[in-house]
Amino acid sequence: MLLLKNADVYAPEPQGICDLLIGGGEILAIQPHIEEAGLPVQPDVIDADGCPVTPGFIDNHVHIAGGGGEGGFHTRTSELDIQSALRAGVTTLVGVLGTDGIARSMEDLLAKVYALRNAGLSAWCYTGSYHVPIRTLTESLMRDIMLIEPIIGAGEIAVSDHRSSRPSSAELARLVADARVAGMLSGKAGVVNFHLGDEPAGMEPLFELAESLNYAKTVLLPTHCGRNKALYEQAKTWASGGGTVDFTTSSVPQFVKNGEISASRALDEFIREGIDIAFMTWSSDGQGSLPLFDEKGQFSGLTTGTCQSLITELKSALALGIPLETALAPLTVNPARMLKLRRKGNLAPGSDADIVIFDRAMEPETVIADGRVLFSPA
Ligand code: ZN
Repeated sequence: MLLLKNADVYAPEPQGICDLLIGGGEILAIQPHIEEAGLPVQPDVIDADGCPVTPGFIDNHVHIAGGGGEGGFHTRTSELDIQSALRAGVTTLVGVLGTDGIARSMEDLLAKVYALRNAGLSAWCYTGSYHVPIRTLTESLMRDIMLIEPIIGAGEIAVSDHRSSRPSSAELARLVADARVAGMLSGKAGVVNFHLGDEPAGMEPLFELAESLNYAKTVLLPTHCGRNKALYEQAKTWASGGGTVDFTTSSVPQFVKNGEISASRALDEFIREGIDIAFMTWSSDGQGSLPLFDEKGQFSGLTTGTCQSLITELKSALALGIPLETALAPLTVNPARMLKLRRKGNLAPGSDADIVIFDRAMEPETVIADGRVLFSPA
């Protein structure tokens, strides 16, 4: 048993100063005061000293086994180092392949999911990569989702990007329909994660899907929604109509110069414009390549996404005056709902004990995953 004392609990709704009792990997109780003497066994005790305590973050789009490498084989990005996720308060990850669905495989992605689980984190993944028809594990998207436990949807499928396979609307509709039915039959989210590129069509292929499939908004999860102003405007329309939109926190100065809207700024504007922020998620795109191309489409350099960017954007949101409980939603309750991760994303009795204790500078100081302390002050 673990007893976390004097925690300023954000569940993410603020609960005030409380003690949390953890056992068997889950939260057993959250109360203003839990007396050690009254417990059946002597717990380990951590004193949070009045610092903010939040749910562990759900990073819903991470190239856990590496992703991309648009400058040639020597630029292939490396797989995720578990410490870099923990340092960013991430306890749940959804792995994706990416641009390269040939040299990188579903087998490799799934192996990394198992590696993260063995290390104590929670991890799932999507089947497929940028290109349609998608690469799968069992030659069938539906079989992958239904029969392979960690696979909860399909993605990331690229649209409106110079690296996409130019999927037809019929191909996309079939893919979405299959993912949804497989999700229904297996009790999983069955979502389809769409990579949105820079091309002017932006989210048009998704709006088209929503016209023919009345459930589209419940299973489509478009990402990189702040990539440029036009795409961002479409994302606002999508969210206003009840669709979820994902904003990428990893960035480089060139992206900002090209008109990228940061996740924190998008959150601020959604609040100001009265768009329900329940439809916003954030993800890091960690270990994904962030390639730069010149105006002729020639590759000109590449950096790598990081989980740490989630903390950077969280702090930016706080600096904009957004309350902590609101800024936490795109990293906790919102992705948990969209991805049907029922025991994740909030602090309540019965939820998995995925917990971050922040220091006063809002850096994760101690990270608990499934009730185990995996990251703590040196
Ligand atoms: Zn992407």
